[in-house]
Amino acid sequence: MTKAALDPAAPLVFDTAELGRSSGTTMHIERGVPAPEAFGLEGVYAVPKSSTVDLDVRLTAVSEGVLVDGEVEAVAEGECARCLAPVRDTLRVQVQELYAYEGSVTEATTDADEIMRLEGDLLDLEPAVRDALVLAMPVTPLCRPDCPGLCAECGVPWDELPDDHGHEAVDPRWAGLEKLRLADTDGESK
Ligand SMILES: [Zn+2]
Ligand SMILES: [Zn+2]
Repeated sequence: MTKAALDPAAPLVFDTAELGRSSGTTMHIERGVPAPEAFGLEGVYAVPKSSTVDLDVRLTAVSEGVLVDGEVEAVAEGECARCLAPVRDTLRVQVQELYAYEGSVTEATTDADEIMRLEGDLLDLEPAVRDALVLAMPVTPLCRPDCPGLCAECGVPWDELPDDHGHEAVDPRWAGLEKLRLADTDGESK
């Protein structure tokens, strides 16, 4: 399986040439970049494509590759699973990932999907950033933890309804039957 070569112009691809593969050398990336694609479930809960992903990460050359660690911040948007109101959360996550040098012992002794790799001097932060953000996303996004959701009868959010809201009213076509049923129940209970 051949993988498409990394695009050096992609927002989350970084050139580590300045580290010179010299162990202990570090570079700091502190900037906002546009999300190259939506992270998460678009329309449900996701960091939208092109929205800003703030990076505050350190790249450190180690003997087998480049260690990335730091913090990533992005805003996720979606809708509340109970009341469908828009939800906006700032996600702040830690990333820590080792990118192996091509030709390193680590690269030779691990499976391709076990560890990230550098492509020449290029390092693709996107998978690490996506994984960290998606992992921090709630399984059930809510506008607030105690969101009461919608009235099952009329679909109006409970937050907008009076406390005594209810649907006692019976369709007039059934009102007669309902009277009979009530009378019947009364009879049985006596
Ligand atoms: Zn809600
Ligand atoms: Zn209702």
